[in-house]
This record gives sequence, structure tokens and C-alpha cells, in this order.
Amino acid sequence: MNTDFITRLPKAELHLHLEGSVDPLTLSQLSEKHHTPFPWASNRYKPLPDSNRTLTVAEAAALYNYTDFTGFLMAFKGVTERLRDPEDYELITYRMVEKLAAEGCVHAEVFVSVGVVFWRGQEFDPLFEGMERGRRRAERDFGTTLYWIFDAVRNFGAEEGEKVLAKAMEHQGQNVIGIGIGGDERVAPPEMFEQVYARAARAGLRLSVHAGETVGAASIRGALDSLKAERLGHALHVDEEPALLERLIREQVPLELCISSNLRTSCCPELAAHPLRRYFDAGLLVTLNTDDPEMFQTTLVREYGLAEDAFGFTNEELQQLAANSFRASWLPEERKCELLKLL
Ligand SMILES: [Zn+2]
Repeated sequence: MNTDFITRLPKAELHLHLEGSVDPLTLSQLSEKHHTPFPWASNRYKPLPDSNRTLTVAEAAALYNYTDFTGFLMAFKGVTERLRDPEDYELITYRMVEKLAAEGCVHAEVFVSVGVVFWRGQEFDPLFEGMERGRRRAERDFGTTLYWIFDAVRNFGAEEGEKVLAKAMEHQGQNVIGIGIGGDERVAPPEMFEQVYARAARAGLRLSVHAGETVGAASIRGALDSLKAERLGHALHVDEEPALLERLIREQVPLELCISSNLRTSCCPELAAHPLRRYFDAGLLVTLNTDDPEMFQTTLVREYGLAEDAFGFTNEELQQLAANSFRASWLPEERKCELLKLL
């Protein structure tokens, strides 16, 4: 892997969850600060057995050792239950951007699970102020810009999605660019969110949809037809349906691919089976992303390295992937042009 070349390559990260950027050291520090079980507003969720004490760094790292999608969702909960006050959010935002900048990432569009904050019965606005403080400070210190995408977390349903949308509209203009639905695709198909997405589009918010991660091509069609998705997260299984593949090539819908994530959650059985190379050669607009870098023990540099080592991407092709990340971003056109010139 040509680490130097990849690190120096200016690029954008378009599929990254704030909560998935929390490294074991930070998680251990957070658990030291909040070592009583979280006062859950809902009794649907029982805290993890070890949620009432400080985690060592090794224990925090062990939380990230799982082998399937359900294990991943449990680790995600293990992190979010230790995120409680504005300072926590400021800290994790700052540290996330610091790491991105060190990898040559000049712009990021980051999901924050607003749906989870509501579910816990927390007030969102003070937490968002913390995130914004972290963003401003990191932008000043490292130069990497950041937009927020408010994620409704699909398993909580459309009604909760409406509340997340209302919050996104309230903060539109404060670096909130769009909405998303992450979470468990198996229990919440895209069609459930048709009204939420239609309203978001009318409000001028941009639309990202996790589709084709744990469910097949039908979910991607649903995201395009019902939700008018502008970007698709994961988008595995596209080439199971030739008509869908043709459509995505024709419309150049950006795909947010996340190789390590798909391997760790077993959504993709093995590296050689990942569609990155097939998609790229077919002419799809693909981008490389980390999803939840700490939880999947990866970095953006490593994802580009996988493209090189496992799929034979040349330096020119890696540069093409970086250019795609700028084209697929929701930055203003003139900023996109400036960034493309860097390449
Ligand atoms: Zn994701």
C-alpha cells in the first residue's frame, strides 16, 4: 500500500457516523466520567451488563470485537450510552476531525444519530451546541470542513423520523446539510419514510439513504423510487438486477461504499466478493468511506489502501476515487471546483 501517496491525496469522507469515530481511549475516558447506567426514557432497551463502571482501554477495544451486524449495533449502543453532555460531543467531534485531517481528508459529511438522542429522552440542542463548538475549533486548527447529516435511525419508525426532520430544519444553515436513515434495514424498509423524505426535499435538505447493506436490491429501488435518494450508503447487490445497474450508471447516483464495514458486519462474505472493482469498471459513481472507523478498526487511508492492494487500483484510479468524493459531496459548486483542482 502506497501510504504516503494515499495520505497526501486530498479527499472527502461522505459516509461516517460521529458515534463510530470514538476510539477506545476516548470511550474509556467517557466511561470514567459517566459510570452509572444511563437513565433510559424507554424500557425497550436494557443497558449492557458492564455499563455501570469505568472501562479500561482494552475493554473498550474489546467492545468493538464482534462478527455480525447485531454485534455491531450492540457496540454502537455501548458508545452512545456514554455520550451524555455537550462536552462529550465537543470532544468526540474535535478528535474525529483531527484524525480525518491527518489522513488528508479536507471535507467530511457526518451522520449524527439524532434519533438515538431523542430515544434516550435527551435534549438535543445543547448537545448540538457542543458538536458545533468541536467542529469550529477543529476546522480552525486543522482546516477540514464538516457538514452534519441528521440520522433518523430507521428502526425507531417514521414518527420519530418526523421529529429528526423537524430538528434538521430548525438547524438548517448551521452546517446541517441533509438527513439519513441508518440502523436496521431488515426491520424498516425505505417506503416507511416516504413522507419524511418528501418534506425534507421540499425544505431543501439533501437526501442520503442507507440501502443495500443488510437487504438486497429491492431496498435500493425503494430508496430511489420512494425516497428520491441523492446518495446511497453501501449499495451492495446493485449488479443483481441489470436494470438497476443501468439506471445507477445512467443517473450517476453517488454510492458511498464502505468495504471494511461490510466485511466486519458480514454483509459481504469476503474481500474478494466486494463489488468496488466491478462497480468502478461498470462506470458507477463510487466513493470510499469508513462508516464507523473505530468500530471497524479502519481509516480512510486504509480503505484506499484496500482498493489498491485487493483490487489493483492504480494511483490514477485512486485519484479518480478522490475526485468522485468531491463531486458526490454537497459542497457548493465553486468549492468543489477548488478541491478538484487540488488533484
Ligand atoms: Zn452507515
